[in-house]
Amino acid sequence: QAKENGRNTYQFYMPEMNQRAFERLFLNSDLHRALDRGEFELYYQPQLRLSDGAVVGAEALLRWNHASKGQISPVLFIPLAEESDLILTIGHWVLEQACLAARRWYNAGYRQLRVAVNLSARQFTRSLPQTVAQVLRQTALPPELLELELTESLLMEKPEQVREVLEQLRELGTLTAIDDFGTGYSSLSYLKHFPLNRLKIDRSFVKDLTSDSDDAVIIEAIIALAHSLRLQVVAEGVETPAQLEFMRRHGCDDVQGYLLGRPMPADELMRFLQQRPMPTPV
Ligand code: C2E
Ligand code: MG
Ligand code: MG
Ligand code: MG
Repeated sequence: QAKENGRNTYQFYMPEMNQRAFERLFLNSDLHRALDRGEFELYYQPQLRLSDGAVVGAEALLRWNHASKGQISPVLFIPLAEESDLILTIGHWVLEQACLAARRWYNAGYRQLRVAVNLSARQFTRSLPQTVAQVLRQTALPPELLELELTESLLMEKPEQVREVLEQLRELGTLTAIDDFGTGYSSLSYLKHFPLNRLKIDRSFVKDLTSDSDDAVIIEAIIALAHSLRLQVVAEGVETPAQLEFMRRHGCDDVQGYLLGRPMPADELMRFLQQRPMPTPV
């Protein structure tokens, strides 16, 4: 990790336990039942295009509404689900729900509004394009309105297989994005070997942008090089007007962060959209 992001949120209420013990004792069996119990919910965080302020996308972010423990962060339970094929079941549900939501936005007149879905490494198998194609058919969502987010480390770990899958996804017409860019060890020149559309700058760089000149320089370089590779750039975790202004000045394409909108339930996103201009074709 290039940056420490301090996400061990369980420590907040269980300081004396390590994560493994916590998971084994409390979460594992509950997690297997959560889907059947209807405890999962997708939140959506808007992504705004800087050139005109239009909402051009929304990232689907999973929430677990646990019966007795309340809402549990995906930072805590996704890694646990990723240890087994449970992530495949959950991941498929997420994909379906997100595509259904995007189709509803489409029906409501938001015909350019994309949905972005996070994929775990385990989901990235040779059968992924088939699965995606089937969900697109079943939800009648135009493929270009689905964006799939994957991490840098996946590209590094199985480059050949990933390239093949990415090529098939491109043929399908979906978009792909590299999430949390800058936290792994890949270089931008490495990215040019893969058919990708977008790159999301990790929020750890955005966070210290105005206090840490190294981070500012890194972001400038990422944006310039990404554009030279014809990749769009999305900044994650934009929280302040100064960060937003920086992104605007340096030609970042889209922004996502608490300043623009928090992750919210689907019906709330619909109200959020109604208060804003319709996205127009670029
Ligand atoms: P991510 O994909 O990088 O998602 C962005 C995270 O940053 C989200 O955390 C979002 O709520 C948070 N965020 C957005 N704007 C701001 C901001 O301005 N400030 C701060 N401090 N945070 C901001 P969240 O929802 O807790 O999700 C955490 C991670 O869990 C995600 O990181 C993603 O890696 C994973 N995740 C969430 N949903 C899914 C899913 O359906 N499938 C998979 N495989 N992973 C998921
Ligand atoms: Mg993401
Ligand atoms: Mg991210
Ligand atoms: Mg992240």
